[in-house]
Amino acid sequence: MINRRLILVSNRLPFRITEKKGEIEFSPSSGGLVSSIKSYIQKTNSSPGSNKDNCPVWIGTSDIAEKKFKDRLQSGSIFYDDFELAPVFIPPSTKDKFYNGFCNNTIWPLFHYFPSYAKFSDNYYEQYVKANTIFCEKVLEMYKPNDIIWIHDYHLMLLPELLREHLPNATIGFFLHIPFPSFELFRLLPSKWRKEILNGLLGADLLGFHTNDYVQHFLKSIRQILGFENTLRIITTPDRSVTVDTFPISIDYYKFSKASTDSDTFNERNKIKKRLYDTKLIISVDRLDYAKGLINRLESFEFFLEKYSEHKRKVVYILLVVPSRDIITKYKETKREIEGLVSRINGKYGSIDWTPIVYQYKTLEFKKLLALYLAADVALITPMRDGMNLVAKEFVASRTDKRGVLILSETAGASSELGEAILVNPTDRGEIAGAIQQALSMPVEEQTTRNETMQKRLQEYDVMKWAEDFISQLLIRKEKQEKLKVKEVTTQIENQIIEHYSHSESRLIFLDYDGTLAPLARLPHLASPGGELISLLKTVGGDSKNEIVLISGRPMEVLKGWFEHLPVSLVAEHGAFYKQRGVDWRQTVPVNASWKPSIIPVLNLFTERCAGTFVEEKTLSLAWHYRNAEKELGFLRSRELINALVELSSHLDFQIIEGNKVIETRARGIDKGIAASLWLKKKQHDFVLAIGDDKTDEDLFKVIPTTQYSIRVGLTQSVAKYNFKQQKDVLSFLKKLQTRKQVTIENHITNNEVG
Ligand code: UDP
Repeated sequence: MINRRLILVSNRLPFRITEKKGEIEFSPSSGGLVSSIKSYIQKTNSSPGSNKDNCPVWIGTSDIAEKKFKDRLQSGSIFYDDFELAPVFIPPSTKDKFYNGFCNNTIWPLFHYFPSYAKFSDNYYEQYVKANTIFCEKVLEMYKPNDIIWIHDYHLMLLPELLREHLPNATIGFFLHIPFPSFELFRLLPSKWRKEILNGLLGADLLGFHTNDYVQHFLKSIRQILGFENTLRIITTPDRSVTVDTFPISIDYYKFSKASTDSDTFNERNKIKKRLYDTKLIISVDRLDYAKGLINRLESFEFFLEKYSEHKRKVVYILLVVPSRDIITKYKETKREIEGLVSRINGKYGSIDWTPIVYQYKTLEFKKLLALYLAADVALITPMRDGMNLVAKEFVASRTDKRGVLILSETAGASSELGEAILVNPTDRGEIAGAIQQALSMPVEEQTTRNETMQKRLQEYDVMKWAEDFISQLLIRKEKQEKLKVKEVTTQIENQIIEHYSHSESRLIFLDYDGTLAPLARLPHLASPGGELISLLKTVGGDSKNEIVLISGRPMEVLKGWFEHLPVSLVAEHGAFYKQRGVDWRQTVPVNASWKPSIIPVLNLFTERCAGTFVEEKTLSLAWHYRNAEKELGFLRSRELINALVELSSHLDFQIIEGNKVIETRARGIDKGIAASLWLKKKQHDFVLAIGDDKTDEDLFKVIPTTQYSIRVGLTQSVAKYNFKQQKDVLSFLKKLQTRKQVTIENHITNNEVG
């Protein structure tokens, strides 16, 4: 049982708030999200609703002006229906450009694949930033330590990061209710905006999307625009990790499935049926929106009447369009176009006693909507793009008689879960007309089989399960992050290591080079050591109590050129060769390189097929670098290369190692751990430290005694004892190690003198 308070943040509060005779009145919400949260609270809270300190907070805008709330808002919130509602007030000058502007005139069309409808206005974006900042202030006002913050939708994509700046340890989840578009569309946003939006989202601990496609699109944008890779959908940024996953939103299944047993609803359904006599009924229910594919759908229906003329007078299409955003020009135009088409089709095909399309522009009350679902023979849901589409799920859930056929766009998120529907391409009139024909003549047994399977799925993962799933994944993720964070080198840990260092007599320090002592560079030769590093190594290596081992994947010649003049030992090619200070190079273990000629052509082939990549040949290893390739292609080719190499490794004596934007093959029996053991066995040391940034350093960390210190650069899972956030932490730490030691020695001398 988790007794942590939940803060939900959405653009609008999910309740109807009205003003009557100067008094504010609330009406209950029928929305699935509210029911899901209530159900979650009931399941997880020992005393739901009874404890005001623990009841969920919902933050969002309301249409009622701040001054109308008068004294009811003294504490910034109002309790209603088991929720603490905290209204956000956005000044009208911001609200229009934020909501109608950036949200619905830029993001909405772009994310629904209507880029030509998207307006890119600096002023819209400025107001979007401002509105997100106002939301941030309200969340900070309501927030108490240990709360779980769950942010909803495209209106608030900057909010996670804004909050993170103030609440570095908070548990923050974000769910996107619309599609995340392919990278080619997302990149159309001006550079500053697209970076800020992605960084804004990365402020969350868990990011949820409806489908795997949206997740993949998002991960690609992150890789291409911010350059952050992911492993199994966990994105690692320089200072945090963020999980991205799929949570297809659903409906309150039982609310719909029990509707058919409600006598009012059933009577309403019978009234519709009676009026239709033996005419078949096609229905559709959509908000007014160009993304709903209404124009194409009407044209498809016309095509159906033309092509399958035997259905004339035997079918009626009820087209319910729910009013929405009709102050935006494109919506006004879409409405006009729909109305023009409906009257043209009715005029062309209808007769005195038969109107093919019954068009309604209104919102229906719940029972009437349900009656429509129950009366329908076919639900024709063909959006061009839709994040999910709940109407499709509601139609299926309400049909406990297992009758009725769903025709659904393959481009609606819901199609991933409703594969037993007749799936259509929403632009293909012929296909849609054919689907209507198929649906109207589908045998009852087939309807039953299809509906049963879909109903089972909807029943198993309803909106309650969805909320539960999201929140529990958020908590699991946070816990994992906390574990990783515990390993982050804090000042206290630094001091502890420095203290140990100061009091030790024989120290052994292993330092990886690329990504550890020097930042990763575009090309290997560009990462040569700077003056500061050389002088630091000179000082630390010059201390008679220290043995410094630079343990690198670089070839011998490179290490020789850069470091041979310094008081350090060297290990090249991930442990294949080593050079004790003052002694000549040696091979660590006898291995052969007879596999190399077979591998070189494979690597060369991949280099030809992926511009910007190159092969680095070393004595006992080969490296294929793809840092400079186009990110997506480089990554794809690197996966293909690994596949190809795995096949070859079954009969050739080499191993495959994946580094940072590099795939290496090296002789079996070599690794950094084997090389490090030479030093560890040679002599007893009372201080051992190993620092590295790469997978190849994991072998090194494994051989470091548990009482000593190993540190991996970057907040990734590692066998190392600790993690540094970033590469630059290494040098500053080594400097501290050195300086602190001197301070301690001076203190010691002073104390002795005094004594
Ligand atoms: N709906 C409603 N009244 C109506 C028609 C529809 O409340 O007169 C509801 C419908 O039950 C569904 C929602 O509006 O839950 C539409 O959700 P959907 O995901 O299909 O489309 P969206 O509006 O989110 O784009």
